Amino acid sequence: MMKKAFVTKQQVEEIVKKYPTPFHIYDEKGIIENARAVKKAFEWNKGFREYFAVKATPNPVILDILKKEGCGFDCSSLTELMLSKAIGASGDLIMFSSNDTPAEEFVYTDKLGGIINFDDITLIEYAKEALGGRMPETVSCRYNPGGVFTMSNGIMDNPGDSKYGMTKEQLFESFRMLKDMGVKNFGIHAFLASNTVTNEYYPTLAGQLFELAVELEKETGADIKFINLSGGVGIPYTPDQTGNDIAEIGAGVKEQYEKILTPNGMGDVAIYTEMGRFMLGPYGALVTQAIHEKHIYKEYIGVDACAVNLMRPAMYGSYHHITVLGKEDAPLDHVYDVTGSLCENNDKFAIDRELPKIDMGDYLFIHDTGAHGFSMGYNYNGKLWSSELLLKEDGSVEMIRRAETPRDYFATFDNLPVYAELDSIMKEFE
Ligand SMILES: *Cc1c(COP(=O)(O)O)cnc(C)c1O
Repeated sequence: MMKKAFVTKQQVEEIVKKYPTPFHIYDEKGIIENARAVKKAFEWNKGFREYFAVKATPNPVILDILKKEGCGFDCSSLTELMLSKAIGASGDLIMFSSNDTPAEEFVYTDKLGGIINFDDITLIEYAKEALGGRMPETVSCRYNPGGVFTMSNGIMDNPGDSKYGMTKEQLFESFRMLKDMGVKNFGIHAFLASNTVTNEYYPTLAGQLFELAVELEKETGADIKFINLSGGVGIPYTPDQTGNDIAEIGAGVKEQYEKILTPNGMGDVAIYTEMGRFMLGPYGALVTQAIHEKHIYKEYIGVDACAVNLMRPAMYGSYHHITVLGKEDAPLDHVYDVTGSLCENNDKFAIDRELPKIDMGDYLFIHDTGAHGFSMGYNYNGKLWSSELLLKEDGSVEMIRRAETPRDYFATFDNLPVYAELDSIMKEFE
């Protein structure tokens, strides 16, 4: 599949007059159309809700767009809860799928009326104590089947090696405990494979969880109200991959539902999802400018972004497609490593990439940074976070987060005597 940038060179030349590179830019139209396709794919299920995984793109303006499309929010930290609350999401619009959870996060989730999804059996007593000896009416438990997760095309992932969720025995035990504590509404959750580019993942997972749900209800008498398929639906990062068809995925889950749940009198169970990558990934990009070229044993292009702005290539060796804006149709007759400025040799957005000839000043559009892109940023080498921009449906551009400044970076030294000196140095740049 051809990968096409959602902004043109001309648009970027306009944008940079106001907002310098590097920046992440999001495509509102793409986000909305995709969110509607997800809703449509699961409209057969009355209680369906997508809880957007806030960690993927924790920006209140983005979250608000999704909220208007009917999404809830999957949080796993205090600040993600605060952000959700700030945009008016509380109650059953919040799913709290955390792990290794500090007590204050259970307390705050409960205060917002959000749904706690227990990662472990030991967290149940821990949370109960934090909540002053009571348990909310509705809770969920996260399942880990262990072993390897296989589908028709082989092994997909290795739950037996993952820190998340509880064993089957613990899950049954947890449901009994929770029932004794007065819980009325139950959910089950599992996340068994990441970035799956196949329409089979959700239906396969759903089949396993539906069987489990039937067994759980029979043996524990717990009233299961929802089954949460969590995240893991992937996107085609490389041009040779075919993207998932969400309509087909929804139909595949429906088939399992009608085969397993409906005949067992569980035809009213709601399906929840917690997608991050699929909801936002393709609708964000990192735009950066080529500022240096270097010819040693290889050909290097140095850009004004670096791994702090997009960590995935450095951390996982991930492929992110690059379009050189204005050269969409030029032959790919050069081979480059595209690098940032960190003193860290893994700071490369692309290695041995075939690209058109890059000239200094060219704008590079690094695709598919809408999820787990900006949000994985960090400050190594004292590099600062970029701005985030929104390309709105009407074609205008809004800054939805300003770029970080040295003042932000040094703010946590404000208790030290040296801060006065830093303050006067910063003033020279302001
Ligand atoms: C990260 C995460 C998600 C989202 O995963 P994607 O791969 O972005 O869809 C959903 N649920 C939980 C609990 C997560 O940790």
